[in-house]
Amino acid sequence: MIQIQGLSKHYMMGDAQVDALKSVDLTIETGEFVAIMGPSGSGKSTLMNVIGCLDKPTSGTYFMAEQEVASLDDDLLSSLRNQHIGFVFQSFHLLPRLSAKDNVLLPLRYRRTKAVDADDIHYAETLLERVGLLTRAHHRPNQLSGGQRQRVAIARALINRPEVLLADEPTGALDSKTSEEILALFKELNAAGQTIVLVTHEEEVARHAKRVIWMRDGQIDRIEAGASYAA
Ligand code: ADP
Ligand code: ADP
Repeated sequence: MIQIQGLSKHYMMGDAQVDALKSVDLTIETGEFVAIMGPSGSGKSTLMNVIGCLDKPTSGTYFMAEQEVASLDDDLLSSLRNQHIGFVFQSFHLLPRLSAKDNVLLPLRYRRTKAVDADDIHYAETLLERVGLLTRAHHRPNQLSGGQRQRVAIARALINRPEVLLADEPTGALDSKTSEEILALFKELNAAGQTIVLVTHEEEVARHAKRVIWMRDGQIDRIEAGASYAA
């Protein structure tokens, strides 16, 4: 569960203070699928960076995986990030020289506790199967379509069994049919229990989430049921 209270983030631009987030309160339960929506400049990226442990707030509290994140030093923040957050980006961020399977295994190569073992390789194959790409395990990114690359990136984001899958405009580089397929995959993963936070400026994308959090001027403007779930 994610619990944010009174979260503010200020940036200084010369002498001027930019209030990117203004005392945001937000709880995201385990197993939820939420979208963060809103116009450019409304604070979506700033909120995502805080939730993803990439950045610290100026003030307020953030509990994730039973820890208060806002007070952690950078090393602890990065280890919390590596253990509990799976990231998916618009531009996939796959390594071009590695096969799909090795891209999926990549986060585990940075693990300090143990080397990649047979169980890990088996789990990577299980994830490739879940995203429908087991037969492409040995292909490199340039031998895959955009949708297939994003599926590999999703499998990679899941390899650490993250508390939260955090997807930043994950369909922004895909055509509308492929986008729908990727969103259907998110729904499947969520139905199997994965908590998902999706950041997007497209209503067509946000409607697939169960809850849509609308940001405006650094605050939560309103929270709605996702259109495809509404009665
Ligand atoms: P969104 O993702 O919704 O477009 P952002 O979180 O990127 O919104 O930005 C929120 C506000 O904070 C904007 O006014 C933006 O200009 C400002 N901002 C974001 N990042 C920085 C930064 N590194 N330095 C200064 N201002 C920033
Ligand atoms: P692309 O151009 O398709 O995004 P890159 O080769 O630039 O692919 O790398 C994608 C991502 O992988 C980048 O975000 C980068 O931070 C990360 N990355 C790059 N090199 C390495 C590496 N040697 N080990 C782990 N991650 C890397």
